[in-house]
Amino acid sequence: MLNIVLFGPPGAGKGTQSEKLLAKYNLVHLSTGDIFRANIKNETNLGALAKTYLDSGQLVPDELTIKMLESEIDKHQNSNGFIFDGFPRTETQAKALDEFLFSKNQSITMMLALEVEENELRKRLLLRGKDSGRADDQNPEVIQNRIDEYNKKTLPLKEFYTSQNKYKGVNGVGEIATIFELLCSAIDNN
Ligand code: AMP
Repeated sequence: MLNIVLFGPPGAGKGTQSEKLLAKYNLVHLSTGDIFRANIKNETNLGALAKTYLDSGQLVPDELTIKMLESEIDKHQNSNGFIFDGFPRTETQAKALDEFLFSKNQSITMMLALEVEENELRKRLLLRGKDSGRADDQNPEVIQNRIDEYNKKTLPLKEFYTSQNKYKGVNGVGEIATIFELLCSAIDNN
């Protein structure tokens, strides 16, 4: 199985590149952000619990996020593997994911990181806000909260996966097709 954590700050291009990787490697896409947004739209209990966090740009509490992710993994017992997009975002989540996969004789193959600097991210997110209709992309304060949450809680995961020899960084600025090729060669040469 190929289990990839696609890593990078908000606006790095994780969603765009996930779509291309899924098609090529026949993987299941698990985007925690997409799942939360779908739950909010469908007015589920989970959606009600998650909404204030998404609206303000803060991370949803670990316990809730981990439980949701594990139940999503269990829905795809016969897959070739997963692309985890937007998960894990904290060290607690990363440890929980390792333990959960270990209990199923699985593991994370690698963390692929899209490296993009902050000014470029702000520009991209505001632009995406105009097209995507995502409220959290339209408010500069919420964008800054998301970048701050990333720097504080998520960036340490680079160290977590580096210490397992699983971190691969790729330049996330440039043509979509070029970045995709960099990601594919990182996977194929693993
Ligand atoms: P994203 O679509 O990945 O940018 O996520 C949008 C929002 O969903 C984030 O700002 C968080 O509020 C929430 N979220 C998504 N994934 C996670 C996660 N792994 N842990 C906590 N909150 C998350």
